Amino acid sequence: MATPKTYIVEHLDDELGTWSELEYTCIARESHAAGAKFFLSSIPPELQIPEQLSSIPSFTAETRSVEELFANDKSRVCLLDPAAASDLSPEDGDKFDVFLFGGILGDHPPRDRTRELRKKGFEGRRLGPIQMSTDTAVRVTRMVVQDKIPLDKIPYIDNPELRFNEHESTEMPFRYVKGEDGMPVMPEGMFELIQKDADRGIDDLL
Ligand code: SAM
Repeated sequence: MATPKTYIVEHLDDELGTWSELEYTCIARESHAAGAKFFLSSIPPELQIPEQLSSIPSFTAETRSVEELFANDKSRVCLLDPAAASDLSPEDGDKFDVFLFGGILGDHPPRDRTRELRKKGFEGRRLGPIQMSTDTAVRVTRMVVQDKIPLDKIPYIDNPELRFNEHESTEMPFRYVKGEDGMPVMPEGMFELIQKDADRGIDDLL
């Protein structure tokens, strides 16, 4: 039987804000449902992990870094890297059993903070040319390496416009997986959080 896959997000920010919490909870739930493990590494020891995340069975919170965890086993680890020379393929599911992601909020234009992990010498693969949110990057990786769907056969929505009401909408500058309902797949609660942030932005102007 194939070794179960492990998805690791190396948390690179000092805090764990609501946005990251929703993304990490979504990754943990989906990993658990797919028979995989999810590690959140490099967590500052004083950081409190929210109960809705820590209670998911396949989730592990780690204060150690991915380098410490896989010091003698680097060849098992594939870094998902927007600057890698080759794209992820279903065969990479046979070569690697650990997939590493930067726990970085998406920024526009991207600032290449994934280089902090690249410097550590893990072999890298790209998920196509467009920036994804961290939960989308894990979802797409799982579809490629576990479900064996080639990267270019996955249905995507780029830069979706989220419409809150007749007058308000916001464009998300990322690539998402297109769900069966034709909408971008997002963590539970994310739409409401983005709407709240948009309202706050407007309130700040008043
Ligand atoms: N702007 C970011 C940066 O500075 O590198 C990208 C952050 S992205 C929101 C979070 C993580 O998802 C990245 O560190 C990477 O592991 C993964 N990721 C997102 N889009 C990707 C892509 N097109 N190819 C490979 N990895 C990607």
